[in-house]
Amino acid sequence: SKDGGRGRWTAYHPQMDEERETRNQLALDLRSAIENDEITVVYQPVVDSATFELVSIEALARWNRRGHGPVSPEIFIPIAETSGLIDRLGLSVLSQSLTQLTSWPGLKLSVNISPGQFRDPAFTGHVADLFRRTGIEPHRVVLEMTETYFIQNAERARTVLERLRKIGVQIALDDFGAGFSSVGYLRQFGFDRMKIDKSLVQSLGQGHKAIEMLQATVALARSLDVPVTAEGVETDQQAVNLRLAGCDQLQGYLFGRPCSAADIDALRLRPMEL
Ligand code: C2E
Ligand code: CA
Ligand code: CA
Ligand code: CA
Repeated sequence: SKDGGRGRWTAYHPQMDEERETRNQLALDLRSAIENDEITVVYQPVVDSATFELVSIEALARWNRRGHGPVSPEIFIPIAETSGLIDRLGLSVLSQSLTQLTSWPGLKLSVNISPGQFRDPAFTGHVADLFRRTGIEPHRVVLEMTETYFIQNAERARTVLERLRKIGVQIALDDFGAGFSSVGYLRQFGFDRMKIDKSLVQSLGQGHKAIEMLQATVALARSLDVPVTAEGVETDQQAVNLRLAGCDQLQGYLFGRPCSAADIDALRLRPMEL
């Protein structure tokens, strides 16, 4: 049988049909979930590394699949990307979270953007519309992207980044340190922020090489004058090391799991005690 249209012929396994069937069903269910506004957004606190004050929020998509329960974004985001659903899903997340941000003055907001959304010629127009509709100042919003897109579509990426910069929105490189980022392209795109991948953060404590690699990664970003957020911070020790390494913002279960907007309201009224 032909393997997922990738052009390779492989041995036939009945299990492959089953997986494809499950995937097709997931894609169908996801489509109707998007149409019925069943994709929701949770918010994870990001704190200042020196004061532990809440400074920003990352919006993360959630899907509670009817009759099945929650599906991880690690599963449904890739399905949305390959099923032509990512544009609508992404705009829904952006619209919900920008609307929410109007009740959180003083906070910044990060939203994840998939490469597929960047490819849509209407994307920057939609973004500009959302800012007009909500009245949010664009500099309060950071769009997070992973490096794959920038490496594979350097030319197009530059054009879209240019337009987003004109709107005034910020761009962060997500999952930094997990891939192959070269100094050359980090400089060429001029990111407003870099987010150290949680795999690097969580390798801390597993030998002395881990901390050296982390320090080198943060130092690389800072040599380009780009501020650094660390994600996946779960322990005090990690928080201390990351602050000393030069991260100005921290995010992770130590400071708060992704939660409802109401939980963020409560956090704003009663700052976290650590
Ligand atoms: P990401 O952008 O790297 O988001 C961080 C992930 O790490 C989130 O997983 C978050 O819940 C998790 N996390 C945060 N702190 C900790 C911690 O201390 N320990 C551990 N173990 N994990 C932590 P989540 O919500 O499951 O999202 C997974 C990925 O799905 C995201 O990774 C992002 O790539 C993608 N994603 C989520 N929402 C959206 C969206 O609205 N649009 C797009 N394009 N992608 C999204
Ligand atoms: Ca992210
Ligand atoms: Ca990340
Ligand atoms: Ca990630």
